[in-house]
This record gives sequence, structure tokens and C-alpha cells, in this order.
Amino acid sequence: MLYGKIAKSILDGSLTFNQICISGRFRGYYTVIQPVMGNGGHRLEISASNPEDPGNTALGEHIQQIRANYGGINHVYVRSNSVAFDLGYGANKKFVEFIDPFVRDIVSFLEAGGYTSGCANCGSQEQVDCYNINGENVYLCPNCLEKVRAGLEAKKEVVRANKSNLLHGFAGAMIGALAGGIVYVLINKLGYVSALSGLLMAFLALLLYEKFGGCLDIKGVICCAVILIATVYFSNKLAWTWEVFDQLKSYGWRFGEVYSELGSILKDSDLTGTYTASLLQGYLFTALGAVGKFIMAVRTSTGKYTIKKNK
Ligand SMILES: [Zn+2]
Repeated sequence: MLYGKIAKSILDGSLTFNQICISGRFRGYYTVIQPVMGNGGHRLEISASNPEDPGNTALGEHIQQIRANYGGINHVYVRSNSVAFDLGYGANKKFVEFIDPFVRDIVSFLEAGGYTSGCANCGSQEQVDCYNINGENVYLCPNCLEKVRAGLEAKKEVVRANKSNLLHGFAGAMIGALAGGIVYVLINKLGYVSALSGLLMAFLALLLYEKFGGCLDIKGVICCAVILIATVYFSNKLAWTWEVFDQLKSYGWRFGEVYSELGSILKDSDLTGTYTASLLQGYLFTALGAVGKFIMAVRTSTGKYTIKKNK
């Protein structure tokens, strides 16, 4: 279901979809509905505070009471100036059928109790706007926005100053990759698809780089990538050498000879294609195991952040 359509069909159409999230004021209460990256669900946040209900304790109790009437609420976050929900619904009809009565239920409680709505962080009602901060949408006052910006800026400095020890990290990644390489060769020996152990190899190399080198920065990503490319190549070659050696040893071949002659042996047996396919498969699984961590490392190593005012 399209978000524009969802926005129109809930809460009297008082919220709007701005290409990023559904937000606006429903009966005066700032409300944000946004998809949560990765889990297919949604996050709902309503700004509300009341001097007579410090910490929104009574609001939290009310939510606990009504929660049983509504399925699909995975988590409730009660804060001093807002309340947020992790919802298990995707962008579908069920979500619409849930969200409309649910928000009305909460807002009726807020109205009856005289709660006000403002900045989700401090409760201020001055110049409150919806901002997109690193993909999360939230209603903030100018003061809190500046605090958030200063916090992210300080974090950026810390992250940038945080450099890994390449030599220690290299040693860690080598240990991890070699352990993965041994598994690669052994699994092949047992007759299974050894490429799968590329996942393990990538996992161990990155983990141990981080453990030994202090953190996984861009330098570490490059170091691990080079080690993994080489290790997959040699593991795959060793695995094949072992297999061919088992066939040829009765003819007087030695392991080392098979290893150095592997290319021509495969060519003569028309197996070069199969060999290359197995190598690519090994690279594919290793890449699958590494790519998420690589992206994360590159992203966090610059400390970059984005703050945008939603239209
Ligand atoms: Zn504020």
C-alpha cells in the first residue's frame, strides 16, 4: 500500500506523507509514522507531556492497559515528552486498521488528561518542526536540534580520531582467514560445498581484525579484503589439489607437484570451467559474509551524519 494513500485514510487525513515519513498533528498532537529499515515494520511516535504526569508514568500505565486490545505492538518506549511504539505491521490494510483506532485511543487519553504536545525531546512548544536525522524522523525544537547536531559533531571527531592498529589488525585477520581457509579445505575434503565456509572466513577475519586492531576502519576494510581474496584463492586451490592428488598419488605424483601443475592438469581434464566456478562461488559467499560489515565500517569511519528538515 502506498504511504500517500495510508496517510489519507487514517486520522481524518490530518497527517501528510512527505516521501520519508507520515507526520503532522492529529488533534494537536505531533505524530510521526515511519518505516523501520530492515525489519519491515513501523515506528510510531507521539509527542506528549504533562507537568502533572512527570515522566509520562500515567500515560505509560494507560498504554499497558490498552495494549492487550491491540496486537502487533512489539515494543513501547515511554519517555518524558513522547511515547514511541515499534509495530510489527508492514504498509498494508491491517496496519491502517490498527493505527487509526490506536492513535485515537491514545490521543483521547491525552486530551482528557490535558497533555500538551511539542518537542519530542524537551516538550517545548516553540518552533517545533519535523527533522530527519540519519534517517530517523522526529519533532524537535531549535534548541534540541542544536544539541543533537553538536552531539553528532562531537561523535564524528571521536570516530575520526579512532584509528586501528594495522599490524595487530593484520595479524588478527590472518588468523581468522587461515582458520576459515582450513575449514574451507576440510569441508571440501568431506564432500560438501566448501564455498559456504567463505561466510565463516569473512566473519572471522573481520572479527579478529577488530579485536586485535582496535576497530574496523577503512584501512582495516582494505587489509581484510586483500587477505580474504588471497585466502579464498589459495584455499580453493588447496582443496582442488587435494582432490586431484587423491586420484594421482597411485601414479607416483607428489602433493607439491600436483599443486604447481594444477592448471595444466585441469585443462587436460576439461575441468578449468568447474574450477573457476568453484572459485567464484567461494568469492561470492565470502563477499556475502563481508559486505554488510564493510559498508558499516566505511559509513561509521567517517562519522558522517545528515540532518534535514522535513517539508
Ligand atoms: Zn526541545
